[in-house]
Amino acid sequence: MSGITIAIDGFSACGKSTLAKQVAKHYGYIFIDSGAMYRAVTLFALQNGLIENGELNSSHLIDKLNNVKLRFEEKEGYSRIFLNEVDVEDEIRQGEVPNNVSKVATIKEVREKLVEEQRNMASSGGIVMDGRDIGTVVFPDAELKIFVTASKEVRVTRRWKELMDKGIQADIKEVERNLLERDLIDSTRLESPLRKAEDAVVLDNSEMTRQDQLQWVISRVEDVLVSKNLS
Ligand code: C5P
Repeated sequence: MSGITIAIDGFSACGKSTLAKQVAKHYGYIFIDSGAMYRAVTLFALQNGLIENGELNSSHLIDKLNNVKLRFEEKEGYSRIFLNEVDVEDEIRQGEVPNNVSKVATIKEVREKLVEEQRNMASSGGIVMDGRDIGTVVFPDAELKIFVTASKEVRVTRRWKELMDKGIQADIKEVERNLLERDLIDSTRLESPLRKAEDAVVLDNSEMTRQDQLQWVISRVEDVLVSKNLS
């Protein structure tokens, strides 16, 4: 398959995955939710007693990383992540995973493993990947880089509604605390901190509908395709 690589980065809950899915569907590209991979490694750590009372045993997790096998599978039009052949797509969005994922994501060895897998998944081209380091580290040569932002209030309300829609009970204050904590850890860590790539275009979708943001990205993609003679 041919096509360009589209990197979508930004803070927590600003609609990156929704946007990435929309764009991938529109162009028939592969969509990869890189955050799901960090979440699945965190679930593995929790299942194996490597996080207790909020304390992460990093060296044991590093020792066991070879036992973490991740893959995505399309089911009814949605991409779902499998950890060691078990579908964990819903489990990684709740419980202790959101509270611990940013700690796990600071570990260099975890990042190296996942970045390598992410690059392998994209080897055929035609990919939309969302995360925190996609335009800066995973695909520094991506043809299109988008940095998504939205106001804190919009992000908190969106994430809370998303959880409630899935039947996951959540306290809005707790959702806000978790988002702000993750943003802080993600943007201040030593390894691949969240930041806008210099050549990324900024999309503030606070006031946009899903359709508006899709149209916004499509026009950027079309410009890239024309400039590369791919349209
Ligand atoms: O995108 P999502 O909110 O599911 O990501 C969960 C967490 O995984 C982030 O808060 C961040 O700590 C980590 N992450 C990362 N690099 C990525 C994607 C996610 O560090 N490319």
